[in-house]
Amino acid sequence: MIQDAKKTAFSFEILPPLKGSNIERVFRTIDTLREFDPKYINITTHRSEVVYKTMENGLFRPVVERNRPGTVAISAAIQNKYGITAVPHIICSGFTKAETEYVLIDLKFLGITDLLILRGDKAKSDKNFKAGEDGHRYAIDLQQQVNQFNQGIFLDGSKVEPTTPFSYGIAGYPEKHDEAPNLDSDIYYLKEKVKAGADYVVTQMFFDNQKYFDFVDRCRAEGITVPIIPGLKPLTVPDQMTVLPKIFHVDIPETFTKELRKCDNDEAVRQVGVEWCTQQAKELIAHGVPSIHFYTLMATKSVKEVAQAVY
Ligand code: FAD
Repeated sequence: MIQDAKKTAFSFEILPPLKGSNIERVFRTIDTLREFDPKYINITTHRSEVVYKTMENGLFRPVVERNRPGTVAISAAIQNKYGITAVPHIICSGFTKAETEYVLIDLKFLGITDLLILRGDKAKSDKNFKAGEDGHRYAIDLQQQVNQFNQGIFLDGSKVEPTTPFSYGIAGYPEKHDEAPNLDSDIYYLKEKVKAGADYVVTQMFFDNQKYFDFVDRCRAEGITVPIIPGLKPLTVPDQMTVLPKIFHVDIPETFTKELRKCDNDEAVRQVGVEWCTQQAKELIAHGVPSIHFYTLMATKSVKEVAQAVY
């Protein structure tokens, strides 16, 4: 679908709602962005975390909680309600190999055959990523499990006739993954993931297109030929100037922060965020990128305005 696109496709990513809320927020986001003909919608996956609950005696009790479950169900709901391809994320972090196998079986039953395969974020309580006892260490290990599954081979060694295989993408980092010693090493492992079967790469958000263009050039020079889909996020609130670099390890260009500093209210910041993202999208489209992937968290209205300007 990505390879055959005649013009730059539109896609976006949504998070499952917090535990206890209903699916309407997800549908509202899709209803807002549907007019731009999304070719596919990604649904993120979030691991469980240890949280400390206060007991009656005043002491704390550690409890394992997953506050954004539902990726599989939401993917199915989207595909059924809108007929748009859903791309659930599957992650190593916090999942055993057996749990992943059950997810793959469920997805097969639901007719969902596209995935984004990731290692996943570390647990909030850990300083560094720790692989679970019966989980995977790297995204490529999870890819191998999916490849085996695609051949009809289960974890216990039993075999069935293969059916429609899962097609999958992986993550790439124009400004390098924070744990990688350098970009060269990160691209080396990216190439390994492509060799292991990834059909395309989706990038981490970036605010400087030159970083994306340089990254693509380097990947091509290393022999990575699959589509590399740029990920964009319109900055929406002033705090994100410091929060986004901290969480996602991305730089915000000086010219952008200079414009943002001139704003004297939140709406003005949002507007500057939309303008910056629109310029990024226009340049990427002129450059012939196959698809642009929008991060919609807290930004649906802004993504709509960017899409109106460029699609
Ligand atoms: P990996 O490919 O495993 O790489 C992790 C690090 O290890 C890198 O530094 C890499 O260079 C290195 N490395 C890779 N393979 C090897 C190897 N074989 N040996 C030694 N080193 C290696 N997180 C979530 O929890 N849920 C989500 O839904 C989610 N969605 C995302 C969507 C996109 C588009 C992106 C870009 C990120 C997303 N993330 C998500 C965040 C992602 O899980 C983190 O960035 C994570 O820290 C790395 O994931 P990865 O798949 O790139 O890991």
